[in-house]
Amino acid sequence: MARHRQAFRVGRSDVAAGTRSTITLELPGLYTNDPVSMSVHVIHGKLDGPVVFVSAAVHGDEINGVEIIRRLLRTPALKRLRGTLLAVPIVNVFGFHNRSRYLPDRRDLNRSFPGSESGSLASRLGHVFMADVVNGADLGIDLHTAAIHRDNLPQIRADITDPILQPLAKAFSAPVLLHSAAPPGSLRSAAADIDVPVMVYEAGEALRFDELCIQFGVRGVINVLRLLDMLPPSRRRPSKPSAVLRSSSWQRAPRSGILRAQTRLGDLVGKGDTLGVIADPNGDAEVALEAPYDGVLIGRANLPLVFEGEALFHVGRTRQTSLLEQHLDAFSDGNDIAPPELIEEPPIA
Ligand SMILES: [Zn+2]
Repeated sequence: MARHRQAFRVGRSDVAAGTRSTITLELPGLYTNDPVSMSVHVIHGKLDGPVVFVSAAVHGDEINGVEIIRRLLRTPALKRLRGTLLAVPIVNVFGFHNRSRYLPDRRDLNRSFPGSESGSLASRLGHVFMADVVNGADLGIDLHTAAIHRDNLPQIRADITDPILQPLAKAFSAPVLLHSAAPPGSLRSAAADIDVPVMVYEAGEALRFDELCIQFGVRGVINVLRLLDMLPPSRRRPSKPSAVLRSSSWQRAPRSGILRAQTRLGDLVGKGDTLGVIADPNGDAEVALEAPYDGVLIGRANLPLVFEGEALFHVGRTRQTSLLEQHLDAFSDGNDIAPPELIEEPPIA
């Protein structure tokens, strides 16, 4: 006998099984007396299954994830979703309006979780998101980009020692899966404390759209939902597995000056290879930055004007070069990434 699935509650709203709805969560308003709210798209499948949240713009200027969620929500296969998908395209609504990573109180939302009802503006926003979205979920995928003037190779960051998270993080099939600890106060860390595993997708740069990063992201979320049996399996060959990186490090500027980068995202580097050269504006004094070990360039600064100590090149340690090369070919050609389930629409150029 078919069991009728209960309605799903977000905030003060109920969403009936087999329906979808956009819920607005009230946030502290603007000082102009204008109201502010966070939109949560709820797709509550007819059949039982896990509850997964997908969030973007926790850092208000990181917009690739907003587009990833827009495309995800237009995926026709969601009509057959088992379980429940909670999609929040803009978590940090204040930062998004200001085109800023931060909140108007200059705090970083991703260092303010789990937050509290009586704390700072950032803390209150974090609290609403934890209470009304994260708390009811079994898994989360948090979509980010590099900070302003920086760029990230599409990558998943997760604690791969977590036996629940590891296969799901791998299923996302980003070119790179980086094992990393969650920073204190981050969404990932606060969610782990209440036993909701979260993986972070990092791809591209702030305030820019990047079509490949978006396509890898949409496909990745769909791959994870498939592994959880929330969506039917693909009829196509499976995505290539990620290269797993157990560690990474940033190479910092040994002096201030003007950087001439000599490596691009996704470049495979050998220990001692030159990543870039910093010179003074007259070109008299030059110093080279070298790869600390064999690996792949997974993040870098784009702005050539650098201060001593600035993080310039993020090198992931790996020797899985053939696996990476297959992914990186797709990254440079841009072929064959988008899942065929998506509505065809012109790519962002
Ligand atoms: Zn971010």
